[in-house]
Amino acid sequence: MLERPRFLILNAPPLIRAAFELYATGKYSQVELAAKLYHMGLRAKNGKAIQKNFLGRMLRNSFYMGLIHIEKTDQSYLGAHKPLISKQLFDRVQAVIDGNFTVERAKHDFPFRQLFSCKLCGKSLIPEKQKGHVYYRCQTKSCPTKCIRQEPVESGVLAKLIEVQLDPEQHEYLAKKIEEFRKSYDANRSKEVDLLEIRVAQIKDRLNLLTDAYLDSTIDKEMFEHRKTALLMERRDIEDRIQDLKDGSPILTRKLDRLLEFTKSAYFQYFHGSLEERREAILDVCSNRTLREKTLEITLAVPFDQVAICQKSTSGGASRANTRTWDKLAEFIFNFARKAIREQGVKS
Ligand SMILES: [Zn+2]
Repeated sequence: MLERPRFLILNAPPLIRAAFELYATGKYSQVELAAKLYHMGLRAKNGKAIQKNFLGRMLRNSFYMGLIHIEKTDQSYLGAHKPLISKQLFDRVQAVIDGNFTVERAKHDFPFRQLFSCKLCGKSLIPEKQKGHVYYRCQTKSCPTKCIRQEPVESGVLAKLIEVQLDPEQHEYLAKKIEEFRKSYDANRSKEVDLLEIRVAQIKDRLNLLTDAYLDSTIDKEMFEHRKTALLMERRDIEDRIQDLKDGSPILTRKLDRLLEFTKSAYFQYFHGSLEERREAILDVCSNRTLREKTLEITLAVPFDQVAICQKSTSGGASRANTRTWDKLAEFIFNFARKAIREQGVKS
């Protein structure tokens, strides 16, 4: 008999992956994990939380890493389906189940310290530990926002990070496409610099003509100053753009690499990265991290909001229309990165 998962779970490959990832950390019992997964949106077919036994069977099922096990003969075969998790992760989960894996629990710094604020009064939420639970509390005594436990905050963050987690093929395609934009940008860069330098020369000529006109009394002082200022501003602007073009290439590459890295690993980073890496991922990927009374609000920062939309709208199949969507996303990310480094200034 094929050990295909009989207990189909509704539309949840990322959440099944999350189940393995979370369990592999060794921080959760199966009961805790089932509750957490429910919170993250995982539902059994009947719409309820999955049961512990069910979860236990799922975590033991090699189907998810691409192996089909035939009980009768105790043989395993490579399935034709696409594996959802790596063998490494599967093995780690087995070790946790078997008790062969001890967790070094991280020293309990508060992972969301200073990352969330109260939507009503704007103050940062302050972490505190009470009876073994971590809470994040609004500092304003009279504020209707009181506090929230760490667990729902973590679930909320994970739910966002998973939205920008791309499959390896999606990531590869996006990276390839962005690299194309970057290359053609680089090729056009020197052409663009030449054109802009011609414009600077033209402005210099116009400034000379303007000065002549003023000296000949063709225009009055006020008009002269007015036009001169406009021309000087324009020249300044163009010179900045030339400088950006000259300096920006390596910075742009780093920026793009960083953005792409988050779409590859922000979610996994959460489980395997250091506390700092985790906080960095949250800071970069999630914006508007607030609590309003009891409601947690997290939105994705640009351009990750677009990544999530693209991910959602193209899930399943790689049709021609999907390719166009991914191409557009690549262009969006590329332009976002260009704009971001221009705004930051290129000196960083
Ligand atoms: Zn408040």
